[in-house]
Amino acid sequence: MTDCLFCRIANKEIPATIRYEDDTFLAFADISPQAPSHTLIIPKRHVDSLSAATDDDEALLGKLLLTAQKVARQEGLLEDGYRVVINTGEAGGQTVRHLHAHLLGGRDMQWPPG
Ligand code: AMP
Ligand code: ZN
Repeated sequence: MTDCLFCRIANKEIPATIRYEDDTFLAFADISPQAPSHTLIIPKRHVDSLSAATDDDEALLGKLLLTAQKVARQEGLLEDGYRVVINTGEAGGQTVRHLHAHLLGGRDMQWPPG
């Protein structure tokens, strides 16, 4: 059994509110939403972070963004817009060491982010 939280969610060992799933990705509600719509999109396969991705992950990273678009459409965010964020490493604010994209929408975003 893995001790990676998001691997455990992908394996359905820990419950989550699932918003999208296919063979490669899982999208689920963030437990501490920072916007009216806040979804995490993860590859089911463990990748530590964006920094750990290699050329072999080219298709995976492309599909990650297209999956974010798919979930954004499903969440009704396409017209107003949305934000996709990949926190990476300690200074980047990454707290869970399994690559994930945040999809945030339903409110006006600020720039620069904190
Ligand atoms: P990051 O800080 O970019 O690594 O994002 C990790 C995110 O995971 C945070 O927004 C947390 O709220 C979220 N999170 C942590 N535990 C869970 C969980 N069990 N289910 C859903 N989201 C979680
Ligand atoms: Zn993992």
